[in-house]
Amino acid sequence: MQFNNLSDRLNEYKIEYICDEPMSRHTTFKIGGNADIFVKVKTEDELKTVLSLTKEFNLPLLLLGKGSNLLVSDKGIAGVVISLDGLDSVTVDGDTVTCGAGASLRAVCLAAQKSSLSGLEFAYGIPGTVGGALYMNAGAYGGEMSQVVVSATALDRDGNIKLFTPEQMKLGYRVSAFKNTDLIITSVTLKLKHGNADEIKAAMDDFFSRRRDKQPLEFPSAGSTFKRPEGYFAGALIEKNNLKGASVGGAQVSQKHAGFVINTGNATCEDVLSLIKKVKDTVKQADGVDLEPEVIFVGRK
Ligand SMILES: Cc1cc2nc3c(=O)[nH]c(=O)nc-3n(C[C@H](O)[C@H](O)[C@H](O)COP(=O)(O)OP(=O)(O)OC[C@H]3O[C@@H](n4cnc5c(N)ncnc54)[C@H](O)[C@@H]3O)c2cc1C
Repeated sequence: MQFNNLSDRLNEYKIEYICDEPMSRHTTFKIGGNADIFVKVKTEDELKTVLSLTKEFNLPLLLLGKGSNLLVSDKGIAGVVISLDGLDSVTVDGDTVTCGAGASLRAVCLAAQKSSLSGLEFAYGIPGTVGGALYMNAGAYGGEMSQVVVSATALDRDGNIKLFTPEQMKLGYRVSAFKNTDLIITSVTLKLKHGNADEIKAAMDDFFSRRRDKQPLEFPSAGSTFKRPEGYFAGALIEKNNLKGASVGGAQVSQKHAGFVINTGNATCEDVLSLIKKVKDTVKQADGVDLEPEVIFVGRK
């Protein structure tokens, strides 16, 4: 009933949506049951409208970037999933790059390189949006979002916009002040350094080829399954415990990089969760180390 009402109102506002949309189509793991309503917003005004409708109908909502750090339940997601793919503007002004939260890191890296701006090379090859990257404080090869972000805007559930300074974002190892709140990052501003376009391109290509050599990019995954435990490397601990290639159903600890759980073709969310538990239990028993998932589980339990 609520969904019929919501559909009517979305139609009224001409906002694009799909009912019962398989989340396996929107996650890099290619796993996940249906979202009740999947909404694609193209502007901040559309986003504000959707926020006020979900509030009016008292529906839960989940923000989606590229789904590259998400493990979605086989039972799907209750309520509304909002895709910010449409908020993908990238504007370069001097040494400053301002992006819509839905812009892909790839597009932002390429725009920076084209303008001879250095500092974001580390992010080339991380398959997320700039909003998702700020939420996670994504990083690689010694770089992370905290080193380049100077401000961001976010909406709360009431549609109020707030400007965040880096201090207010509280960025740490794969954490930010946005995590587990109802804030929606709408734009991110980065400050980079003037450099040489060819050297920037060479660094981006180098990072990308290192990824291709080391990571199982030929299989669906959500990147590193676990955070790096202090004093250890998750992949090395997993490999040491002979878990490379261990599998549950279609989920497998990658033979190429033990830090990745991959979907070999028909993995379910339950397969991945069982494999994560098996890996965690084995490592805890053998080495006394608690592995904490970096991948975020969402959806119906
Ligand atoms: C092959 C591969 C390699 C990877 N390599 C790296 C790596 O080197 N380093 C690294 O850090 N990560 C890596 N990742 C993980 C992932 O790409 C990053 O965490 C990325 O930043 C997630 O961005 P996303 O847009 O896909 O977010 P999603 O996965 O869609 O969402 C992640 C979380 O952010 C929230 N979110 C997304 N957008 C917003 C927004 N605008 N406002 C509020 N909340 C939001 C979501 O609700 C969710 O809780 C890798 C993943 C893959 C598949």
